[in-house]
Amino acid sequence: MKSPIKLRLTGFLATVALGAVLIGWTERHSWRQIGQLQARFGAMQDGGYHLADYLEAAILRFNHTLLRFDLREEPTDRVRFQEETDALKVWLAQQLERSSAASERELLRQIASAFDQYLIKAFLTLEQSAQINGPGSPAALLARTEKESSHLLTLATQLAHAQRQSLQSALSDAHLALAELKFLLALSLGLLVLLSLSLTVLVYRGMIGPLRVKLIETRALVERQEKLASLGALAAGVAHEIRNPLTAIKARLFTQRKLLPENSEPLEDNRFISDEIFRLDKIIKDFLLFARPSEPQLELVKATAPFRELAGLFRPELERNSIELKCEFLADPQVRGDLQQLKQVLINLIKNAAESIGQRGAITLRTRTKPARFGSRSTTAAVLEVEDTGDGIPPAVQKRLFDPFFTTKETGAGLGLCIAARILEKHGGLLEYQTQVGQGAIFSVILPIAQSPEREPARSD
Ligand code: ADP
Repeated sequence: MKSPIKLRLTGFLATVALGAVLIGWTERHSWRQIGQLQARFGAMQDGGYHLADYLEAAILRFNHTLLRFDLREEPTDRVRFQEETDALKVWLAQQLERSSAASERELLRQIASAFDQYLIKAFLTLEQSAQINGPGSPAALLARTEKESSHLLTLATQLAHAQRQSLQSALSDAHLALAELKFLLALSLGLLVLLSLSLTVLVYRGMIGPLRVKLIETRALVERQEKLASLGALAAGVAHEIRNPLTAIKARLFTQRKLLPENSEPLEDNRFISDEIFRLDKIIKDFLLFARPSEPQLELVKATAPFRELAGLFRPELERNSIELKCEFLADPQVRGDLQQLKQVLINLIKNAAESIGQRGAITLRTRTKPARFGSRSTTAAVLEVEDTGDGIPPAVQKRLFDPFFTTKETGAGLGLCIAARILEKHGGLLEYQTQVGQGAIFSVILPIAQSPEREPARSD
């Protein structure tokens, strides 16, 4: 199964790839649009849109040259006429090649063929006036040349009209293309903002967020460790000092008891003092356990093993208080642990659960597995849970739950949970809880799984 961070990373990479493709496509499309616009407006600048004017002027100029030749009969006019009409022919062929609009091309073709006709007539006229020898009637020639060129001029006017239309369509295309570019630009910008935002969120969630949580957890742990260390040193010193006189008192009480007569009041007092000394001794033992927990003797233990032993032990006492003890063994992986210490932890949790319920309720002992993190290592863990239907833990108590000597009970020592947490720490495990006021609590012992049960069957049960 993919971890959430891997999934998030894959999602982000997919988004980045999609964003990059979209931005790339937008850019390519925009460049193409701009290129097309540039080409069209370049053609306008080249004079392509003044074709009709140029043509009109040329025809009028040819008519004028024809007239002048007729009047003066100078051969240079004839040569010039020849040269200029040749140049116009070349020019017309070039315009036909350049023109992209179908209507314009058609008109240019018509103009080219009309111009050929015009030239045939014009050279015929020139021949005739050369044969007449002497200037002809200028009015008659003018009328003839105007007649020949009128079709050409009409075509030139039509070309001008087609060009105007083409210009208008180019402008409206440019308008549309600009609107499209504007939209694409806004889209790319939006995408960039979205990508940056998701990158920020990802970096925060994937790196800064967990780091912050870890920092807070580490700080709390360090504070707890410091408290425990100083308390541990103090506790060890005090316990040692108290234990010696206690041992001496116990010895004296023992010798005194032998000298006292049976059923006498001093013997009763002696017994009472002995009991209290025993209680004191137990508190000091707990104290020392908390201050200097013994190193766990690690061995392979099945997760259900401590629960199976404890269930039988606790059931009669719990039943007296109408508390039902349920077992829900959903998994039975092996862990590396000290069975006695694990039992000590669970005894504490079961006692707390029973005290929270008081009378009538249920305690569930559950084993299961779940993914967990131990430091920087993510793995599957064995979970040993004690769930109760008691009062739950109010927020004010939750804040101090693992503080040494914190208790809400009259006769409590307030060391149970911190000893449990310390023992599990030494096992490389964790103690977690969930609670809802009025609905009970679940305390979970979480330990790394030692070996997969399929690979090596459990030795003991
Ligand atoms: P003690 O049992 O001696 O008070 P612990 O360290 O075991 O010491 O528990 C500290 C406090 O946590 C208890 O006094 C109690 O208020 C609270 N507590 C622990 N377990 C539970 C539970 N299952 N339900 C409600 N409160 C709990």
